[in-house]
Amino acid sequence: MKKEKTGKESSNIIDNPDETNSNYRSIKLVIKSNETPEGDGFVVHRSFPSGSIRNLDPFLLLDEMGPLDLLPYESKGFPEHPHRGFVTVTYMLEGRFEHKDSQGNSGKLGPGDVQWMTAGSGLVHSEMPEKEFAENGGRLHGFQLWINLRKTDKWIKPDYQDVSSTRIPQVSTPDGKVSAKVIAGNYLDAKAVINTLTPILYLHFTLQPGGQVVQSVPENYNAFAYVISGEGLFGKDKTTVGEKNLIVFENDGEIISIREPDNAKSPLDVLLIAGMPLNEPIVQYGPFVMNTREEIDKTLEDYRNGRIGKINF
Ligand code: FE
Repeated sequence: MKKEKTGKESSNIIDNPDETNSNYRSIKLVIKSNETPEGDGFVVHRSFPSGSIRNLDPFLLLDEMGPLDLLPYESKGFPEHPHRGFVTVTYMLEGRFEHKDSQGNSGKLGPGDVQWMTAGSGLVHSEMPEKEFAENGGRLHGFQLWINLRKTDKWIKPDYQDVSSTRIPQVSTPDGKVSAKVIAGNYLDAKAVINTLTPILYLHFTLQPGGQVVQSVPENYNAFAYVISGEGLFGKDKTTVGEKNLIVFENDGEIISIREPDNAKSPLDVLLIAGMPLNEPIVQYGPFVMNTREEIDKTLEDYRNGRIGKINF
């Protein structure tokens, strides 16, 4: 890690990284993601909502999709379903998905691609393995994150940001031990191309042995990490956590530390996600997330009457 004091609050580079500094965040909770059937025969590893976490404001759900090995002509995915009142973020690691929606949009998502979909006032869509990919079979693996929208943004027109892997900024530390894909927010001198309605940080790190991430995040932002593969040391207490675990950080400092020990046998692949809490009431009914019970009742009525849409192509 480059030793450089910029004095800027937004800097990711901290002089003398050392977890004894009282500004480092500790860990609130580590939970193993749960194998959960979802959609049409798909199995996801769900971190939350779960028995211990209802949500992590503004985040409503984190699923690791698969990894799932499809046989040729086996198609498992998420057929037609609605969304209203929040954002879904799909990040593919392996395999190919295609999506279609009630607004007439369609698109494909391959390894490293991100779809940032603001459902807003609502739409109906399907997310299924791409036809050619499904014919050959192969591994599907990725993430889906749900982010709540402010009361004032829940009724906006649905919007997509479909970003191919080549447009996702990638940056490494000067020692070459940490590389990051910047999906939202910024890391070192790389700034994401995706725009968010409220401040969100979404980083995918790969740490080689001896690598360290030192990320500053405002103290009131909720922040968590998810280990995709490998094992690392997290937070002030350098707690060891391995794959398929969610690490929720305490709101007790501005610095998040992730280390990969010098003697690690394989790299650490990890997501770090943080966001400004909305502090608004959440009333959720499956794929609908509103602020009041009345708005949910209206949404169910809108859905039954086809006012959220239908896929007709
Ligand atoms: Fe969906």
